Amino acid sequence: MTSKEIRKQFLNFFESKQHLIVPSAPIVLKDDPTLMFNNSGMAQFKDFFLGYKKPTSVRIADTQKCLRVSGKHNDLDDVGKDTYHHTMFEMLGNWSFGDYFKKEAIDWAWELLTEVYKIPKENLYVTVFEGDEKDGTAQDEEALELWKKHIAEERILFGNKKDNFWEMGETGPCGPCSEIHVDIRSAEEKALVPGRDLVNQDHPQVIEVWNLVFMQYLRKADGSLEILPSKSIDTGMGFERLAMVLQGKTSNYDTDVFRPLIDDLERISGKKYGVDFTSDVAFRVVVDHLRAVSFVIADGQLPSNSGAGYVIRRILRRAISYGYRFLDLNEAFIYKLIPTLKAQMGEFFPELEKQSQLITDVIKEEETNFLRTIDQGLVRLDNFIQNNSNLKEIPGDVVFELYDTYGFPADLSRIIAEEKELTIDEKGFESEMEKQKQRSKSATSFSASDWTILLDDAVEEFIGYDYLESDVKVTRYRQVENKTGTFYQLVFQATPFYAESGGQVGDTGFIENQFEKVEIINTKKENNLIVHFTKELPKYLELPFHAVVDKERRNHIMRNHTATHLLHEALRDVLGTHVEQKGSYVGPDYLRFDFSHFNKMSEDELKQVIKQVNTRIAERIPLEEKRSVPFKKALEEGAMALFGEKYGDVVRMIKFGNSIELCGGTHVQNTADVIMFKLQSESSSAAGIRRIEATTGLAAIEELKDTFNQYNQILAELKNPADPIDAVQKLVDENKELKSQLEKFVLQQAQMEKETWKKSFENINGVNFLAVRTSLDANTIKQIAFPLRKEIENLFLVVGSDHNGKPSITVSISDELVESKGLNAGQIVRELGKEIQGGGGGQAFFATAGGKDVSGLDRALEKAKSLT
Ligand code: ATP
Ligand code: MG
Repeated sequence: MTSKEIRKQFLNFFESKQHLIVPSAPIVLKDDPTLMFNNSGMAQFKDFFLGYKKPTSVRIADTQKCLRVSGKHNDLDDVGKDTYHHTMFEMLGNWSFGDYFKKEAIDWAWELLTEVYKIPKENLYVTVFEGDEKDGTAQDEEALELWKKHIAEERILFGNKKDNFWEMGETGPCGPCSEIHVDIRSAEEKALVPGRDLVNQDHPQVIEVWNLVFMQYLRKADGSLEILPSKSIDTGMGFERLAMVLQGKTSNYDTDVFRPLIDDLERISGKKYGVDFTSDVAFRVVVDHLRAVSFVIADGQLPSNSGAGYVIRRILRRAISYGYRFLDLNEAFIYKLIPTLKAQMGEFFPELEKQSQLITDVIKEEETNFLRTIDQGLVRLDNFIQNNSNLKEIPGDVVFELYDTYGFPADLSRIIAEEKELTIDEKGFESEMEKQKQRSKSATSFSASDWTILLDDAVEEFIGYDYLESDVKVTRYRQVENKTGTFYQLVFQATPFYAESGGQVGDTGFIENQFEKVEIINTKKENNLIVHFTKELPKYLELPFHAVVDKERRNHIMRNHTATHLLHEALRDVLGTHVEQKGSYVGPDYLRFDFSHFNKMSEDELKQVIKQVNTRIAERIPLEEKRSVPFKKALEEGAMALFGEKYGDVVRMIKFGNSIELCGGTHVQNTADVIMFKLQSESSSAAGIRRIEATTGLAAIEELKDTFNQYNQILAELKNPADPIDAVQKLVDENKELKSQLEKFVLQQAQMEKETWKKSFENINGVNFLAVRTSLDANTIKQIAFPLRKEIENLFLVVGSDHNGKPSITVSISDELVESKGLNAGQIVRELGKEIQGGGGGQAFFATAGGKDVSGLDRALEKAKSLT
């Protein structure tokens, strides 16, 4: 059975049990402070479990793209080393939200595995929660009785809280679970050791495939459990592991999910899979990581230096360095696997198909850059080793700096150290790593107390499209802490404040009543709740408040948002429909728009875009807003949907003439209200992605005014010439000419100085030594010091210069002396550099140092003499 059929059968089976089949949610999460990536099937339904949102159906099934590379679920270290953990994998799941419970979940799982997929019953084991004293939970009798109907008692095992109690995070819905394990060993092996002894023992062929979670508790911030009023089912089955079982393989990588990629990689590397453990690991790491990175890019998250972007960059780099070290691949190669991945998965996940050009460009560029980094790292490490003779151990901070600042893998440092018969200060490296972990932990730390509920009115309405002020009541609040301090989050039953999303920043303003006025410093969305941030907790929380949004700020934001839509439309008109939004910032100050396009925009294209946006503004096009259009209908009407966004069944449509977008943001009533659009810059933001920054309205007018003022000042400086451009050009030409004359003059002077130097060398024990002071600049010194090496034998020249108050030292030593006397200009210049409070370096025959303290020059020259 092909993997495509396996996936289909799963969905068909649950469809026949009245489940609504939904698409996978994006792999990258946008408004959850506790989670970066979707790490399980249930993540997208958290709102339903928490009761923040009504489920679209009480029975749902799907396959969910998951990534387990950070946080509570992190499998990265196992990936490639074992054959059944991936970074990115698909989780097949079925859900009941307050509908069916343990009986159906267990019966159907059994039916699907044994009757539809026909897995021999004697290969299956199941586990049941044994209870936990500390939590005060008992053994799961209900599940035990239900399983006994299907499976012999000796194949039911009991598991503790670690294996058989599933929790979403530190807090939230949770409950006991039953796992289903499959034993796929040969009959001989089974005869030797019974399968039940190998369940949950990390045996690669006795593995967990499915986990059925029975959500019946809520874990509170103080660690205690509360019973949930309505019970739910959450199941997750590893798709790749299921494929292994059903295709009669012993490794996920031998299934048709991975094998085509491995075949490709064999061709590219010229190496064989399955002959050597180390290169096999590299094969698995590369094909696994390729999937993770591609899916994340397809969902709109590009590699970057922070947050989710950084995690993905590190994963890609891990794959590149495995290829580099163990498959001898030192040119970009991962991007070459994308056509196969697309053929394999593009049908079910159209985002891969549509974004494949971008994925290819981004991965290729990352690869090329990182391979360059590896080369540079090699040079750096080599230099360090050369400059530190008698080195036995490479210090931990050096290895760490290479790793942290330059992205050079520690493993590579280790290998190079070994080649040179050195070791690495592992302890020092570990402690630097630990320090960094602490730093980043405190940078992202976030903790929250439980919500205090004042009014049980969980669904909060946003009324800010129509009102900027309203009377509100606080329904719940809590205290949160992050690296910037302590805040309070308030939730209202209805709010005029816009919560940050879709690039648009959150509203600010205040709430007040007759006793107090409290500032709202930001508004964000958290799992579908709109939370208002304050620095202090209002004293009279039960009283009604009057909420007021900062209107002027919101007006600026609205202009920028509407302008962003007009810009998007203009870019597609001028450059083509390959232009897609890849990120955006809509603030009160300016707008930033990132989009896919492969070249720098020409002057002419930019002009056309700017002109079109301003024309739309002049055309006074009114806003046509439709608040609840069925998603399908909106697409039919030509609305643009973005990859990686999670849309509901009904969406909001924003139309200004031909610009139609699905958008939850706030907009002006008429394009004329944008007033004007002014480009600030067009630049590259990543491979295949361009970035435009611009201003609108009063900010744009201010900017133009500033530019105009500067222009007038320049004209005044130039004494108001008739043709200003020509006047500036003349000035530039003249300046160039003068510069080159000056250079010639300085060189002549220098030649004369050189002749004087030549006469001043002093022979000390066969060394022709001169320490001399000058005011020439470092470059000119180099130009005359170099020829001197040919003119004077056994030369040891030290030049101390005070050029416009900046001291420098140049040391030049004949090759003969470097050889015979072991003199080293690099070391000498470092030593002398101390006198001028500076440092430098170079090679054994020529080196320079710059410094801060001119008064030390004479001391340095004096000291030089003692070194002959
Ligand atoms: P394991 O103990 O094998 O790591 P788990 O307890 O972490 O599994 P769950 O969180 O219960 O797994 O996830 C449900 C199912 O998803 C598992 O039964 C398994 O089939 C699959 N799964 C979990 N992690 C991975 C992974 N890293 N790669 C592939 N499949 C996985
Ligand atoms: Mg796990």
